[in-house]
Amino acid sequence: MLKEQIEQHLLEVQRPSRYCGGELGQIVKDKTKVDVRFAFCFPDIYDVGMSHLGMKILYSLINERENYWCERVFAPWPDMEEVMQREGIPLYALESMDPVGEFDFIGFTLQYEMSYTTILHMLAMADVPVLQRERGEAIAPLVVAGGPCCCNPEPLADFFDLFILGEGEEINLELMDLYHEMRDQGATRTEFLRAAAKLPGIYVPSLYDVTYNDDGTVQAVTPHDGAPAVVTKRVMTDMDKSYYPSQVVVPFIEIVHDRVSVEVLRGCIRGCRFCQAGFLYRPFREKSVDVICEQGKALCANSGYDELSLSSLSTSDHSRIEDVLDQLLEYTAERHINLSLPSLRIDNFSKSVLEKVTTIRKSGLTFAPEAGTQRLRDVINKNVTEDEVMRTCRIAFEGGYTQVKLYFMMGLPTETDEDIIGIAGLAQKVVNLFYDMPDRAKGKLQVSISTATFVPKPFTPFEFEPQPE
Ligand code: SF4
Repeated sequence: MLKEQIEQHLLEVQRPSRYCGGELGQIVKDKTKVDVRFAFCFPDIYDVGMSHLGMKILYSLINERENYWCERVFAPWPDMEEVMQREGIPLYALESMDPVGEFDFIGFTLQYEMSYTTILHMLAMADVPVLQRERGEAIAPLVVAGGPCCCNPEPLADFFDLFILGEGEEINLELMDLYHEMRDQGATRTEFLRAAAKLPGIYVPSLYDVTYNDDGTVQAVTPHDGAPAVVTKRVMTDMDKSYYPSQVVVPFIEIVHDRVSVEVLRGCIRGCRFCQAGFLYRPFREKSVDVICEQGKALCANSGYDELSLSSLSTSDHSRIEDVLDQLLEYTAERHINLSLPSLRIDNFSKSVLEKVTTIRKSGLTFAPEAGTQRLRDVINKNVTEDEVMRTCRIAFEGGYTQVKLYFMMGLPTETDEDIIGIAGLAQKVVNLFYDMPDRAKGKLQVSISTATFVPKPFTPFEFEPQPE
C-alpha cells in the first residue's frame, strides 16, 4: 500500500510531519461512502500552504457535505521529492495518502505567478498529463484552478480544464454538484466542460479560439460550443452569510503564519494604483462585530491556538474595529491569547486602537508608505503623507513600540533616484523622531526597511506599465 511505502521513508527527510497528515482537525472519511473527491493542491511546501486562509475555508466547506471529501496536497521539499522519485511514489493527498491522479478534481490555488512551474511539476509527479488536450475523454481527473491569479489565466490556459473566477466559496459546490450528476449519467470530459462553462464564473479555455497579431498582442477571442463571450467573476455579497470554518487543521510543526485568523472584511477602501488585491476584491465588504467575535472565539476554542489574527487587506479600515477589539480582548486576555492586527494603515491608526492592541503584547509595527517621496506616493495614489507617517510613529513610540518595519516598492512608474534616496531619508526621519522624543519608550529602536520590486498586475491602472529590468 502507498501509505506504508510512504511511512517507511519518512525518517529520511527533514520535517517528516509535512508528509504524514494526522493532525488535529484533519477530516478523514470512508472513501467507499464518498461520491466526489477533491484534492486541494497548494503549489508550495506544507509550511507555506498550511498558512493559507482560502485553503482552510474551502477544505471545511467541501467537507461539510457528507458525500464529498476534500484533502490537502502540498509540493514536497527536494529531499522528499528525491525519495518519491527514487521509490516511485506519486504525488499523494495527506488525509488518505491516495495518489492525486485518482481524485475527481485536482484543484490548484493560484496565489502568485512564481508558483506556476511548481504546478506543472506537481501534475507531472501525480502522473497526470500536464497538457489539457492530452487528458482524453474520461471525465476525471479534472484539473481546475482558483485564486487571484485566475484574473489573468492565459499563461496557464493550456494546462487547466477550467478556471474559477472570483470568490470560490459559492461556486465550488455548484461545480461539484454538476460533476456528480453528469458523471453518474456517463458524461465525457468535453460534455462536462461545455456544461460547466455555462455556470457564471467558470472559464473553460478549450472553448475559446484565440488569434494573435504579428506583434504578439491578442487579435480576437472567439467562444464556441455555447461558451459565453464574457465570463464574470463571482462575488460574495454578504460577508456575514459567507461560509467560514469554526475548526482548522492544527499542524504538528511551526508554519509561516502559525495562528488562527478571522477575516474581518474583504476588499479595500483605497485605490493604490499598483495593487491588484485592492481592485480584484472590490467591493469593500465588512463582517459584523458579532460575527467576527463569534468566529474568532470558536476558532481559538476548537484549535487551542494562542494567537488570533484579525486579517484583511486593511483591518484598521473596519468601521467598528474598536468595538471588535473591546469584545475580543475580554475573551482573549482571560485566556492569554494574543490578538494581532497584521495590516494597519498609517493614516487611520488611532491612539486608542494602539492602546487596545498593546494591552496584550507589544510586537513590531509594520507600515507600507510604498514610496520614498510625496511625488511618487501621489503617482501611485498612496494617500499617505510624511506627517502622517511621523504622527503614527510618534503614537507607536509613546505606546512603547520600539520596532517599526517600513515596506516600500522599487521600480514604480516614473521613479527617479530621488525617490530611492527618499526611502532612506524617510527611515532616518523615523529614527530621529524616536531619539528626539523626551517621553519616548526606553531602549533601542529598530527600524527595518523592506523593498519589493514593482510587478505590473492585470486589472490595475498600471497593468500596461513595463516591468523594470
Ligand atoms: S496597497 Fe493596501 S491600502 Fe493600497 S489598495 Fe492595496 S490593500 Fe488597499
